[in-house]
Amino acid sequence: MIGTLILTKQCNLRCRYCFETHANVFMTEETALAGVDLLASDDQPQGGISFFGGEPLLRKELIYRCVDRVKTMYPHKVFSYNMTTNGLLLDEEFLTFARDNHFTIALSHDGLMSRVNRLYPDGQDCLALLDEKLALLMYYQPNTFIMATVSADCVKQAAESVISLYEKSICQVNLTVDARPEAGWNDDSMDELRRQLRLIADYVFAAFREGKQISFHGFDEKIRSITQQKSCHVCNLGYRKLYIDWDGWIYPCIQFGGLAEYRIGSVTEGIDEGAREAIHRESLVKPAFCRGCALEARCVNDCACLNYQQCGNMGEVSPEQCAFQRMLIETADELARRMIEQDEEQFIKRYLQ
Ligand code: SF4
Ligand code: SF4
Repeated sequence: MIGTLILTKQCNLRCRYCFETHANVFMTEETALAGVDLLASDDQPQGGISFFGGEPLLRKELIYRCVDRVKTMYPHKVFSYNMTTNGLLLDEEFLTFARDNHFTIALSHDGLMSRVNRLYPDGQDCLALLDEKLALLMYYQPNTFIMATVSADCVKQAAESVISLYEKSICQVNLTVDARPEAGWNDDSMDELRRQLRLIADYVFAAFREGKQISFHGFDEKIRSITQQKSCHVCNLGYRKLYIDWDGWIYPCIQFGGLAEYRIGSVTEGIDEGAREAIHRESLVKPAFCRGCALEARCVNDCACLNYQQCGNMGEVSPEQCAFQRMLIETADELARRMIEQDEEQFIKRYLQ
């Protein structure tokens, strides 16, 4: 099975758009190892663990214990590991461990926008240390995946920020929008976001023309939804992945942590199949708002977790998310057209094979 262990809710940062509580709660070793045992308990030859927080690197020792548990107790299973981290606690020891255990690290980094949004509890920005850690991570994992977030009040820096990451030899960037209800987007900032996406597309196109392989996840996903008929729908709530909270309760996704009505089991009792199926069925109801939309197959409107976070309801899409999906599709299609005109053979190689 594949699952996420929420090692703590605590974090060493206080990003302005964070939805985390930062509560001082920590998964015990007993709960973590019971979670590992549960994930290894099926008859599949493979499994996977994502380590998540808060900031998972606050619990480095527990990560080592979990990986050691798999290796010693389940040597016949092939497990993969990954983690999303703010990176500030990365060091040579952990990166060597990650390299030796096929452990993938995604880094949250907003480029220059980090100065505004990624702050220590005392309000100082962390960009200098973050860039230092990024360079160290790139040494061990040259294909590092960056997760960036754009908020309404620094949208004018979005393209410059993403480009600054590519200029540091990053090959893969994903940009998400701070779409909390209080995020404060309006028509002007949405228009600016569209303009910024076009600037990113210009940069991606220039790289394509020079034969460089860089990926902007939002564009690639939308282009492949046409060229390879790859669905942008990834949710499969409750079945794709289990979210094991710090206290051992299991939820279908991270946003539901702590909500008793969304529990689908525990590390001691196992999965409650009835509860899992009921929540899964509830998540299949498409937002009424989207009925008849021609872009439906290329949109991530069925992400129950995101919808719940942004609207407090699995079956509702926020206007910001809808607008962002539309501008991603529009910009990606225009980019694809330019790429085909420039070099059809390279386009086919990249997006059809
Ligand atoms: S690093 Fe992640 S968990 Fe920590 S404050 Fe920022 S968004 Fe929240
Ligand atoms: S683009 Fe908007 S209306 Fe269309 S499927 Fe996506 S969220 Fe729904």
